[in-house]
Amino acid sequence: MTDFTMGKDADGVATITWDCPGKTMNVLSIEALQTLDGLIDDALADDAVKGIVITSAKKDFAAGMDLNALSRMKDDAGDDPARGLFDGIMQMHGVLRKIERAGMDPKTNKGGKPIAAALPGTAVGFGLELPLATHRIFAADNPKAKIGLPEIMVGIFPGAGGSTRLVRKLGAMGASPYLLEGKLVDPKKARGAGLIDEVADDPVAAARDWVLGADDADIVKPWDAKGYKMPGGAPYHPAGFQTFVGASAMVNGRTQGAFPAARALLSAVYEGALVPFDTALRIEARWFVNILMNPSSAAMIRSLFLNKEALEKGANRPEAPDQRVRKLGVLGAGMMGAGIALVSARAGIDVVLIDARQDAADKGKAYTADFMDKGIKRGKATEEKKAATLDRITATTDYSALAGCDLIIEAVFEDPEVKAEVTKQALDVVGPDCIFASNTSTLPITDLARASDKPEQFIGIHFFSPVEKMALVEIIKGKQTGDRAVAKALDYVRQIRKTPIAVNDARFFYANRCIIPYINEGMRMVKEGVAPALIDDAARQLGFPVGPLQLVDETSIDLGAKIARATKAAMGDAYPDTEVDEIIFFMEGEGRLGRKAKAGFFDYDENGKRLGYWKGLADRFPPLEEQPDLTLVQHRLMFAQVLEAVRALEDGVLEDIREGDVGAILGWGFAPWSGGPFSWLDIIGTPYAAERCDQLEAAYGPRFHCPDLLREMADKTQSFYSRFGPAEQAA
Ligand code: NAD
Repeated sequence: MTDFTMGKDADGVATITWDCPGKTMNVLSIEALQTLDGLIDDALADDAVKGIVITSAKKDFAAGMDLNALSRMKDDAGDDPARGLFDGIMQMHGVLRKIERAGMDPKTNKGGKPIAAALPGTAVGFGLELPLATHRIFAADNPKAKIGLPEIMVGIFPGAGGSTRLVRKLGAMGASPYLLEGKLVDPKKARGAGLIDEVADDPVAAARDWVLGADDADIVKPWDAKGYKMPGGAPYHPAGFQTFVGASAMVNGRTQGAFPAARALLSAVYEGALVPFDTALRIEARWFVNILMNPSSAAMIRSLFLNKEALEKGANRPEAPDQRVRKLGVLGAGMMGAGIALVSARAGIDVVLIDARQDAADKGKAYTADFMDKGIKRGKATEEKKAATLDRITATTDYSALAGCDLIIEAVFEDPEVKAEVTKQALDVVGPDCIFASNTSTLPITDLARASDKPEQFIGIHFFSPVEKMALVEIIKGKQTGDRAVAKALDYVRQIRKTPIAVNDARFFYANRCIIPYINEGMRMVKEGVAPALIDDAARQLGFPVGPLQLVDETSIDLGAKIARATKAAMGDAYPDTEVDEIIFFMEGEGRLGRKAKAGFFDYDENGKRLGYWKGLADRFPPLEEQPDLTLVQHRLMFAQVLEAVRALEDGVLEDIREGDVGAILGWGFAPWSGGPFSWLDIIGTPYAAERCDQLEAAYGPRFHCPDLLREMADKTQSFYSRFGPAEQAA
């Protein structure tokens, strides 16, 4: 069985059907490309064939290129992987260009055969690049289908002609949301935007009719016709110039130059726009190879695509029967409880939302109503959906409503006594099989589990704020947590379509354990006299969404002070952050509690807009005359986090480095281009990382001490993924 097959009918239409055996979704392999090439040759050479329709036998058209195929191209080329990639990509261009030219005379553009694509459903990545090479694209009227080029989201860009064709089709401005943001749209919107040509009830029949009726002029692409001008203007046209300058500024503003794929895409598009189409394809191929050779792209694909998907599909789920949640109890209808109720009800789960007072419970439910109203305004929800979602939430103070719940998530005040009390009250009502979870950010799960006489059914399900936006959920296994509780938490996270990591119980679990040293390192530098702007900018140029000082303002100084006091009380003399406390308590004393107080490391206007760094900081902590260089500041911020991640692995808090990498990117925006802390250490190499630890420790103290594990790996020049990654992914 092959991925592409062809049938020819009596009217002269050859239908090429894509149907990867044994897969639910079509993806392109190297072998399949060769099959497709052969079928196109056959159809073009056969006088009985008048036109060709390319479609899929599955409910969707295709998801794109098999990402493993790209790494195979690289590996197969031996000493010259870039050459191997380039040749492979040019071969792909050759097949697509053959489809586009369809056998027509190169001079007169006459005599070609019409080729149309018929998309039954989703067509993304290569799944759209192939249709873009045909002469007309028909899609089924399927509102669930997604159409677009999401490559940029995993650190590459459309490199099978998609970038070059889309820009020539829509203009640089029109193409930019699809290329630079990876925007996906349904078929009707795709037609409106010009990504596809027609939406039809039966796209194969419509495509068939079209190929039988099309004439020579219908199948010449604008860029192959005389006098072609790029919509919106090429770079040296006055309007085009503005577009390209604007796009360049926008991309650099957004990415701070930290994402190589965005920059390479812009270069491919800009340079490609100045030359004939076939040269533009070669340029696109060269930039694509440049990106594929960059370790960042391999790391991003691994973390944001392969590993994220593996975790979502339950890579670390213990054996247990299906644990999907039917009725969820949420205790505490504050900021977190309201968000948890919202995402759960939207996923079709019945929710009982409990608070101490009815008005607080109602307010928590109103959060869902507000969210749905915003969705209706933006055309993303309907009144019916809102009503159905709200119907699933019962807001009450009555614990007896929890009867029949199979999962409870507690999100009351961060106070062990309050938590113990509500845990007991809830457990009195529910059945013996109910799993109980706490959303605590700081309290050990093993301790909280004492409130239950079934600690094996007690677990941490730690959401990030705002719940509806943040994709990560951290699952915390207490000392006695059993497999069924872990499976329950994982199945629930899957139901609400978020990404789980499952870690063992320890102070601050995983994510907060790594974020706190990042924030603290930023504050230490302020105390040393490093300019606040240098600190935050250094972080943003590493690809962090916000710098450490801005992050403190967002999360508030009083929260920082509360955590500092509690940690100090728990750790006693071993407490390492006295220097940081000096600045936290100074800010607290000055009433500069962060954005909510409209005063923090930044000054704010009355609407909460940042105005600039607070001048008073420099009076208390005078700036150094000579500021450190950018790389040093960046290394301090990076090492503060990644060493903590390595320690979490050493301590057994993390059991899987994939969770460490994916959790870091989704949980706190750790430099996505790096693939996460472990991928970053692999990129810089463990020997260099260990050497840098020694230098940083000598200059700044024992918090940069090289963990034994890293030292041992450095001595053996081992990488984290070769030692700890799943075997088939070792790179
Ligand atoms: P919050 O103060 O907004 O909400 C707590 C809610 O619990 C309030 O509505 C309160 O009325 C209710 N409550 C208190 N005692 C109760 C009782 N005995 N019975 C019923 N309801 C009671 O707090 P939050 O920010 O939503 O945090 C809740 C939990 O989530 C805490 O454990 C916190 O550590 C954790 N958490 C918070 C964040 C965050 O960013 N805010 C992130 C992750 C986890």
